[in-house]
Amino acid sequence: MKWRIGRVTVSKIVELEVTGGSRFILPQATYEEILPIGWLQPHFADERGRLKMSIHALVVETPDRRIIVDTCLGNDKQNRRIPTWNNLQGPFLADLAAAGFPRESIDTVLCTHLHVDHVGWNTMLLDGTWLPTFPRARYLMGRIEFAHWREQREREDMAAVFADSVAPIHEAGLADLVETDHRICDEVSLVPTTGHTPGHVSVRISSEGEEALITGDFMHHPCQIARPDWASTADSDAAAARRTRERMLQELCDRPVLVIGTHFAGATAGHIVRDGETYRLSV
Ligand SMILES: [Zn+2]
Repeated sequence: MKWRIGRVTVSKIVELEVTGGSRFILPQATYEEILPIGWLQPHFADERGRLKMSIHALVVETPDRRIIVDTCLGNDKQNRRIPTWNNLQGPFLADLAAAGFPRESIDTVLCTHLHVDHVGWNTMLLDGTWLPTFPRARYLMGRIEFAHWREQREREDMAAVFADSVAPIHEAGLADLVETDHRICDEVSLVPTTGHTPGHVSVRISSEGEEALITGDFMHHPCQIARPDWASTADSDAAAARRTRERMLQELCDRPVLVIGTHFAGATAGHIVRDGETYRLSV
């Protein structure tokens, strides 16, 4: 799946897609609440009201950069809280190469935040050692994010993520710690969308008068476009995350900005339009 924004292209490389089982992330999104939001079907929910979600990476190609935004779960990882995320043996790197992006060709890795499903393929296991998957890339991580998760010791699973997917990049000298409004190149810059995590960012793409926004996780699922008050259990500051969703939806509403969702399944991208008292995603 590919989108064009002026001279930039964005390609989606899927690692996992699931229907149902997402209640742990969005407890308010019950079947009874989801079914009346008709526009969620068929891309984002099924006919029973179960949420469809995707874990994918987005490769952003500008005239002179090849950037991978968020690196999914990764293979061989251990100590993950979600049992099925342990010891994955998926074909992600082969799929990435088959789409025209061998890992050596990536020059920039960008993590919107440092949660487990956004940093996994930062590293790969080789002879018992976690090595950078993208050896020729600079890895851009938020300065605030990095400092926050480095100090996180309360939860073993989060410490494991930092140890196997973030620390090895820093130790290899490949990490650039950036501010939340960092400009990567003429066409691509970061937009602070904090709340989900302390240093969370989205990614703005703009070229030849066209514009797109990669959400990151300020919204996990398009149902939060209709219901921005629905918090995710993964939001580190639920009130701030809600304010960010409301501000961003207001900003994006009825504007020609292609919104590309980091966990949106199916069509994955669309435009935010007004829908009565709230909003919907027009795909
Ligand atoms: Zn996520």
